[in-house]
Amino acid sequence: MTALRGAGRYAPSPSGDLHLGNLRTAVLAWLLARGSGRAFYLRDEDIDSQRSSADSARRQEEDLRELGLDFDGPTWHQSDRGAAYAAALKQLPHYECYCSRRDIAQAASAPHAIPGQYPGTCRNLTPAQRQARRAELSAAGRVPALRLAADASRATVHDALVGEYEGDVDDMILRRGGHAPDWAYNLAVVVDDAAQGVDQVVRGDDLLSSAPRQAYLAGLLGHTPPEYVHVPLVLNSRGARLAKRDGAVTLRQMRAQGATVGDVVELLAGSIGCPGARSLAELAERFELANLPRDPWVWSG
Ligand SMILES: [Zn+2]
Repeated sequence: MTALRGAGRYAPSPSGDLHLGNLRTAVLAWLLARGSGRAFYLRDEDIDSQRSSADSARRQEEDLRELGLDFDGPTWHQSDRGAAYAAALKQLPHYECYCSRRDIAQAASAPHAIPGQYPGTCRNLTPAQRQARRAELSAAGRVPALRLAADASRATVHDALVGEYEGDVDDMILRRGGHAPDWAYNLAVVVDDAAQGVDQVVRGDDLLSSAPRQAYLAGLLGHTPPEYVHVPLVLNSRGARLAKRDGAVTLRQMRAQGATVGDVVELLAGSIGCPGARSLAELAERFELANLPRDPWVWSG
């Protein structure tokens, strides 16, 4: 048996059953990892404690395995990884941010604001100002958010489909504030990818714009950013991102309507340049990234 080198992963949020778009991305991630001899991991991005459920995570894994995906090692849960995120936080220059959503929206409408970028309002407060703001939040039972003190505003990543992609970097949130602080997605994903040796990230292209931030953060933590493959999304017949309200779009719903697993694999296979393939083994033999359509797949049911 050849030694595995590197790893890929599929990392859904356990907030409902996976729909065809999610399943297609998972299949692509599995094909690209296995096709290059990599390990392949499943990770629950259950960091948002409000929206995640263990039952949903279990159903997602069942569906992925039924489709034919296999995974190395146990499934990781971000909710177990707080100590690792706290250790990473200690290595990063950061500061407390007391801004409410409204503060940020107001700052974003200022004349020189860059859309989508935190303007650094709390970065240069005096110790007395910090103390006053902290006390205000504390009186309301809240803790401040923690933000990265970034020393760059742009970063570039390499994507196998898109090529060089440059995007914004800002003083991103590392830990959310509020009543029950949650670790921020950008920090968790970077720490977990590095800890699992993930060097290939395949995911929907709605996440392309966050890749420069994550690559920048990886660099600050002394990690090499992964190779990215941001794949086109699946759209509904109105051109909007596929959602569960678009009909029978989960594996369970399609099976309830009489489709076999092979039928669902064939549907996905046709959308990634392998018409007629009915199993993941068959797909593994035939799939080539060069044949993946670069436009979104429009699914009309
Ligand atoms: Zn702030």
